[in-house]
Amino acid sequence: MIIQPKTRGFICTTAHPDGCARQVQRQIEYVQAQPAIHGPRNVLVIGASTGYGLASRIVASFASGANTVGVYFDKAAEGARTASAGWYNSAAFEQAAQAAGRKSYSIVGDAFSDEIKAKTIDLIRTEIGSIDLVVYSVASPRRTHPKTGETFASVIKPLGETYSNKTVNFHSGEVTTATIEPATEDELRQTIGVMGGEDWAMWIDELQQAGVLADGATTVAYSYIGPEITHAVYKEGTIGRAKDDLEATSQRINEKLSATGGRSFISVNKALVTQSSSAIPVVPLYISALYKVMKEKGLHEGCIEQMYRLFNERLYGSAHTAVDDRRRIRIDDWEMRDDVQAEVSQLWADLTTENVYELSDLEGYRREFFQLFGFETDGINYEAEANADVDIPNLR
Ligand code: NAD
Repeated sequence: MIIQPKTRGFICTTAHPDGCARQVQRQIEYVQAQPAIHGPRNVLVIGASTGYGLASRIVASFASGANTVGVYFDKAAEGARTASAGWYNSAAFEQAAQAAGRKSYSIVGDAFSDEIKAKTIDLIRTEIGSIDLVVYSVASPRRTHPKTGETFASVIKPLGETYSNKTVNFHSGEVTTATIEPATEDELRQTIGVMGGEDWAMWIDELQQAGVLADGATTVAYSYIGPEITHAVYKEGTIGRAKDDLEATSQRINEKLSATGGRSFISVNKALVTQSSSAIPVVPLYISALYKVMKEKGLHEGCIEQMYRLFNERLYGSAHTAVDDRRRIRIDDWEMRDDVQAEVSQLWADLTTENVYELSDLEGYRREFFQLFGFETDGINYEAEANADVDIPNLR
């Protein structure tokens, strides 16, 4: 079929298999051009098909030569519908990893469920033995609790007070004011239920109990802090509280794993265009201003550059991983540099519909958004027939 982008708000409902494969190949080539990392051997990535999880899997496999198991929630093509981008990304990753002689397996389903955890553990036991790095990179709007059956829905809202700030429609370039009412107590509870640390802790417990977590294993989950502009809706809002819970969980996991020489970290990553971040009000405009400043300063990074630096400089760079006073790895260090933030704040004050393409990198944002789905990628002929039915080689 001929596949073109179809958008609904901040979602693109189609994906291009060849474009996704090309994007994955680019990330692999970036990693292959860097020095190898003496890092993990057998890696489980939960939330492995897009964004930071996919980049982590690529770094583990292609910089460190690791075998990987990826767990993710994506859909195959059906009838006139294409598969989701994560499906095509994972198919391309698995082909490349296997061609390079690494083991790689995919489990597609709900990582929050007991069933998928059990299936993953079985797979590790039969094919790999044990895992020495667990990356937790799930971003989801909902979670059904495996024990109580309650389905939580997450919201991105401030707490206590109404919040207003600039936001952009990144398709039209229209800059408007977003006003978000504060969350209720129950919305906060549910957001923590989805994006807090409970599921990560369940994974670690179950892997450990099943004897498939190696002694000395490392685990890492991802967080975001960001600038003052977004604090009310992010760091001090519902999602920030969920991230506080994730941090507290990391401390508990660390205590538990340290008994066998293991470690648990939160890595605070940079704001980047991903399917999840495009759904947060205000953030796409902030990212556009940030990209403008960081590109001009030669500091710009995408998911793959961030994850390579995380593995190379921090997680496996030295015997002692550098952390802040709350045991967080700060790979958002360049984003948060004073000179970068001062310039972003200045741009932010002046941004309007009339000057948004000049003062910010909104065009770069828009293009990267479509590239997440395999569109707007050099070398792909979007007028040509594409085969939407792509198999994932080692799908279990
Ligand atoms: P993303 O949307 O690109 O990826 C999310 C992944 O989770 C996908 O692989 C998806 O398949 C998987 N997933 C979702 N629900 C699932 C389920 N029920 N079962 C199994 N897999 C499921 O997101 P991202 O932006 O890469 O975010 C990953 C993490 O990084 C999140 O914790 C996020 O808060 C954090 N982070 C993101 C940014 C950013 O700017 N994008 C910055 C810092 C930290």
